[in-house]
Amino acid sequence: MNSKDQHSGEKKIVIIGAGPTGLGAGYRLKDLGYKNFQIYDRLSHIGGLASSFTDSAGFTWDIGGHVMFSHYKYYDQCFETLMGDEFQMNNRECWVRMFNTWVPYPFQNNIRYLPKEVTLECLTGLIEAQTRRDHKAAQNFEEFMDAVFGDGICKHFMKPYNFKVWAHPPKLMNKEWIGERVAMIDINRAIKNVVMATDDFGWGPNNQFKFPLRGGTGEFYRRFGKPLEGHVNLNRGVDFINLKRKEVRFADGQIVPYDILLSTMPLDKLCNDLLNGDVPREIKKGTASLRHSGGYMVGIGIKQPCPSTKSWMYFPEDNCPFYRVTYLSNYSPYMTPDKDTHYSLLCEVSYSEFKPVDGNRIVDDVIQGLINAGMIKEEDRKDIVDTWVFNARYSYPTPSVERDDILAQAIPFLEQHGIYSRGRFGMWKYEVSNTDHSLMQGVELINRLFQGEAETTIGMKYASTVDGRNAAVHERSQAAGSGDPKKTAEAAASAPASSPQKPAPGGKQPRREPSWQPSKVREPATPGESTTTKRAAVSRSRPEAKPGERLDLVAAGKADGRDQPGDKAESHISEEELGITSRSDDEE
Ligand SMILES: Cc1cc2nc3c(=O)[nH]c(=O)nc-3n(C[C@H](O)[C@H](O)[C@H](O)COP(=O)(O)OP(=O)(O)OC[C@H]3O[C@@H](n4cnc5c(N)ncnc54)[C@H](O)[C@@H]3O)c2cc1C
Repeated sequence: MNSKDQHSGEKKIVIIGAGPTGLGAGYRLKDLGYKNFQIYDRLSHIGGLASSFTDSAGFTWDIGGHVMFSHYKYYDQCFETLMGDEFQMNNRECWVRMFNTWVPYPFQNNIRYLPKEVTLECLTGLIEAQTRRDHKAAQNFEEFMDAVFGDGICKHFMKPYNFKVWAHPPKLMNKEWIGERVAMIDINRAIKNVVMATDDFGWGPNNQFKFPLRGGTGEFYRRFGKPLEGHVNLNRGVDFINLKRKEVRFADGQIVPYDILLSTMPLDKLCNDLLNGDVPREIKKGTASLRHSGGYMVGIGIKQPCPSTKSWMYFPEDNCPFYRVTYLSNYSPYMTPDKDTHYSLLCEVSYSEFKPVDGNRIVDDVIQGLINAGMIKEEDRKDIVDTWVFNARYSYPTPSVERDDILAQAIPFLEQHGIYSRGRFGMWKYEVSNTDHSLMQGVELINRLFQGEAETTIGMKYASTVDGRNAAVHERSQAAGSGDPKKTAEAAASAPASSPQKPAPGGKQPRREPSWQPSKVREPATPGESTTTKRAAVSRSRPEAKPGERLDLVAAGKADGRDQPGDKAESHISEEELGITSRSDDEE
């Protein structure tokens, strides 16, 4: 089968996955005037883990609280082009719930809010750690936390919270992922805040984020559908890849040849379930041992005016199953049926082999947890008019101790065969797997293939990298958060000439190498990481759900504890996003 376009002579690019990574790559190809590419997704909608769903009760839900803190001008420009002014700018207001009180985030800077004896324990532990321990010698995340934060903060916040999020013992995790993801600590500041009773909030005018006015986070990604018209193929799950013949095969048996394959599906699935051919045993074994957690996203719709201005909150204690709750209705006035009379809470619960969770009880457990944690009262139960559950089987790619070594083998092997695994679970690099990072992983891959530019986000170490660092180098946004429009415009105006061009579909042509070979400028020496993604959805609902509600009992079955991550027995194909079930009690 000939993959070359007959008119342009362009080689065929196949993209697996219409999430932010695949869409970013497609958008950039379109931007460069390239035509011979197709994006395939097994689901019936665009957006991957960044999708949103409006249920029959009129609540819109994201797959976990999605906050857009862009690091990139190109991403900001995509957002401006596709969303215009149809977004709301929100102030970030984060809190930690502990000891029946609210501690402003970052926790480390506000320990004075804790009971006095706990504050003392945290402070003395911190001083001991910072003066006697060496975090550089830490071999894993657990040792790193001990050395940086000390016994008190670790005991009361860092360790319980991180276990709740990651669902993995911290000693199995590396410390390289940390970067900007864990707020570090300034000991003088911590002491001063306690002694002087100073507030040290992490929010304010410099911590703003954009959110689509309607349709949730997913609306932004849905809008890539139009510029990519004719290139996106939904309900098309790839179930087989012939490495030698460079062909993908779909469930219906159709075969599509490729020259370049961008895969954004989970790397472990790619290497173990789909790839056919001479895949070395150590690559299969290594990628199969990559760790991840799953997550239940539980939406609770309440028929009451919203009682708070908070954005999201962290819950380290064991009186509730969730690690984070978002007042999603505070992100836009259109997230509930009526902003004046309804509000919504989106609760995230992780699970893994180390932290099993009963999916059949998840809604009840979350509601009880909200009561235990003081988010709602017992008598508010009667005002709960909607519940929604999504089971993301691939939720967080765990940065395990051995991860980078596995990626250092797998990524170059795949690239030798024209396969580029990128994205949250394609690159398995949590530290660069937010939506902006993911979209830019797709964009940067295309820039690398066509323009010989480095893929800076994935933090791959290339032999020719100027400074030889094995760390992600991000292009920082010059505006606060995603920036207000004015600041973003100023930042764009003052941007160096080398920054990515503004998206202009049909605009400038790529600098193609004559034979259209991927640029050889940067041979990977030590890849940074890799990822894989996967999600299945769903669930909980009452058998007596009313007509018009989606009642996916098969999906509900999938949401239970049997569907733990790491269950390799089940084919990737059956792990569809099976449906979103909502329970609307509005009419009762
Ligand atoms: C709980 C949670 C909270 C998050 N919070 C934030 C946040 O606050 N801010 C932020 O910026 N980001 C956040 N993210 C991350 C964000 O969702 C991801 O960065 C982004 O969705 C990853 O994009 P991707 O394209 O790499 O992968 P995905 O979105 O997973 O897309 C991959 C696509 O590949 C498809 N696919 C898989 N296998 C096949 C196959 N065999 N054939 C065809 N198609 C296939 C899937 O259906 C999917 O659509 C969060 C994620 C989660 C889970």
